[in-house]
Amino acid sequence: MYLRASSVERVSLCSGSLAADSRARHAGADDETKAAMQGTLDHATVAGLLEERFLAHRPLLASHDDVEWDVRFAIRTIAEQMCAYDHLPESGAIEQKLYSATTPVGGSPDFWMYYPELHIVEAFDWKMGWVGNMTLARGNLQLRAYAVLIHEAVDDPEATVFFHLVVPNRSAKRERVTSVRYTPASIAKARIQLEGIAHRARVKTAKRCPSTKACEWCRANGTAFCPESIEYVKETNALMRASADVMPTVTNADLGLLLGRIAQVEKAKKAIQAEMIARLRAGADPAECGYMLQEGKGARKITDAPAALERMSALGGTLREWLEACTVSRGNLLKRYKRVTGAKGVTAEENLSVLLKGLEARGNDTTKLVPITI
Ligand code: SF4
Repeated sequence: MYLRASSVERVSLCSGSLAADSRARHAGADDETKAAMQGTLDHATVAGLLEERFLAHRPLLASHDDVEWDVRFAIRTIAEQMCAYDHLPESGAIEQKLYSATTPVGGSPDFWMYYPELHIVEAFDWKMGWVGNMTLARGNLQLRAYAVLIHEAVDDPEATVFFHLVVPNRSAKRERVTSVRYTPASIAKARIQLEGIAHRARVKTAKRCPSTKACEWCRANGTAFCPESIEYVKETNALMRASADVMPTVTNADLGLLLGRIAQVEKAKKAIQAEMIARLRAGADPAECGYMLQEGKGARKITDAPAALERMSALGGTLREWLEACTVSRGNLLKRYKRVTGAKGVTAEENLSVLLKGLEARGNDTTKLVPITI
């Protein structure tokens, strides 16, 4: 089973979706939204214009009256790119179906032009019906798959593929173009990555992992081919309803589901934060990540309490007065107590409580929720 370039991102997030989406498609599930239908129409318009102009070696008109503004922008971007070289492209293709002979991937890149003397391919993808969040060329798995296909199609091991992603920004009435460069080395890396995604998706035990991003364009979403997605929507709905004023109406079962979801998220939080910090430190683009690093923002901690107290009490006042400004960690006291007395475990705990009687109190929150398995 080939991976369609347009679904590589989804399959990378949910390996089980390769089979589930295919089963749903064969069963006649239709995922064409109004925005997607408009996008298909716009793509056809650009393809028609490109065929008429580009293939006939006539200049592309950036101000064709019959086309919508975002289609015009896409064409203008292409025209500008074509003018960047003195050479004419020798070959190119508009929405040509490509299949790789070596990597299990296939798809139809919107448009590409090949300049053999320069060993350069200029490729374009446009998101005409786009209504969701802004997407960027860098890190885009669909473009990566197209780059592999185009590189193979031009049969030039030295070729570098420049990919431009044209996304109309309807509110600002202008497009946004982001670009990414695929050298022969990065194409080789992309192949390995795609093979890994395909391999994980083809095994019988491939798991279905619902998430908003993965399920959005999956035909199996909400169908019997993916019970997990139905469950996910149920849990998410419960989460959405969980604001204080509607809390009394949330069922006991939904509350349980919510707590489970929160526990999962909290477990993942530290690992995700650490990974994001590492990537940003390694040079990841903050605009792409949606986060930036702000150094020196952590809470300060006294590392040598006795020395700090000495210095402070030299200013005046009694040691007791200065000690009143300090918080003593019970955990640290227990460690010290064990070391001094040799007591262990529960005995050490109990003895310390006796010793500190009247000097310690539990916080207000004395009840803990503990998950049960039935
Ligand atoms: S609906 Fe979501 S969880 Fe189910 S197969 Fe598709 S992407 Fe995976």
